Amino acid sequence: MLIKSATLITASDTFRADIIIEGEKILELLAPESEVSRLWTGEVLDAAGKFITPGGVDPHTHFDLPMFGTVSSDDHYTGHKAAAFGGTTTVMDFVPLEFPKPGANRASFAHSVNLWREKAAKAAVDYGFHMNLTRWDDALAAEFPALLEMGITTLKVFTAYNGRLRLSDGDIFEALRRAGELGMLVMAHCENGDVIEALIAEALAAGHTSPEWHARTRPAWGAVEATLRMAAMAAQANAPVYIVHLNAGGEADMLTYARQRGAPVMGETCPQYLFFNEDDLRRADGAKWVCSPPMRSAQDNARLWQALADGEIQTIGTDHCPFFFDGTQPITYEGKKIAIPGKELGKNDFTKIPNGLPGVQDRLPVLWTYGVRAGKISANQFVALTSTNPAKIFGLYPRKGALLPGSDADLVIWEAAQQVTYDVAHSHQRTDYNLYEGWPLTGYPEKVFLRGKLIVDGERWLGKAGDGQFLRRAPGEVL
Ligand SMILES: [Zn+2]
Repeated sequence: MLIKSATLITASDTFRADIIIEGEKILELLAPESEVSRLWTGEVLDAAGKFITPGGVDPHTHFDLPMFGTVSSDDHYTGHKAAAFGGTTTVMDFVPLEFPKPGANRASFAHSVNLWREKAAKAAVDYGFHMNLTRWDDALAAEFPALLEMGITTLKVFTAYNGRLRLSDGDIFEALRRAGELGMLVMAHCENGDVIEALIAEALAAGHTSPEWHARTRPAWGAVEATLRMAAMAAQANAPVYIVHLNAGGEADMLTYARQRGAPVMGETCPQYLFFNEDDLRRADGAKWVCSPPMRSAQDNARLWQALADGEIQTIGTDHCPFFFDGTQPITYEGKKIAIPGKELGKNDFTKIPNGLPGVQDRLPVLWTYGVRAGKISANQFVALTSTNPAKIFGLYPRKGALLPGSDADLVIWEAAQQVTYDVAHSHQRTDYNLYEGWPLTGYPEKVFLRGKLIVDGERWLGKAGDGQFLRRAPGEVL
């Protein structure tokens, strides 16, 4: 197939070229109107006036994740479909660490990964996994090489969620060293678990129940301090770390401080931390914005934009973990009524609001209009942050994140002039709200290819459950 006359946007360049796709791969890029293009007798797609980016790579999703007695409302099919409509063709999901059977005294990576592979059998785009490291012992340390062989080269640790997910600093330091020896990458959720526990207990005792208190009990200082602590441990362990969902401006300051001193630390932010703040939590429907870490201030939004523009932050993921706002009222999804308990569970207690929000479809279209078109980041930075850099860091480059001969033909053809009033009706995320309800967008993904197969054509869904491949990842690069 020949895609002709498009403008290609990559992490480094913007240029005119024709693309030849053979099977699942990009075979060749040709100068526009080359002899080969003129004499082409096969299938042709004329993309004049459009632009093409590599398929988005979302390094941070939580599909079908049990939480607070319910489950995130997108599974590994509906979430993948939503991703595709937003131009994302690769997602990376976090595997909770499980025990092989009730009462077993030892958690197992292999068992946990097998469970998640079963859930993800209905994948509709390509996907990889990160492993949650929420316990630490010698047996798990010994399983690191087996995890590498499964194509999982990343482990996530938490400095919050005491008694559930958190590891001690000592254990994190050991895990960093072990991972570093093997070329694996530790990812870190940075907040101060001890302070959060104290503040939550105090707030509940004082009768505070509203969503705003979710943010007030998880102060930005804890995120800032934990980010520097994690960067310092990475430097001392001589092992890289990737800080997930930077939300506070001070975290960007700490990232910059550490990187300027040669610490092997990288950072990710998410659209919600660029566009929203604590004021949104004070709205009547504030529970829609409850996620961890919480929304911060407008100054934090501005500092994070600056860090993206300056190249201090390496990626933009989503932390997609949607819940219904009102899970008692069904929505129609693919012709069927469905309702999944959601934010209403915390109507009378902010600590019971499921933590998380939708975003896997929104990321690229919203960032295109309000990042690139608004002049905050360049089109090439947009591709780097949302596709190329995550592919490099997570060991998928140049198969993913690139428009190069030999890369997977994961392409997004954008209709640059298309005007969309974005809302829940445009969203294929399986939830009853859209954080960007009513936002005008200019430029939207029109056609999306996954390994050479057209899976989204305007509003038509041509993909299907089972089309997505599990990606065995290699150790990645430290950017
Ligand atoms: Zn997350």
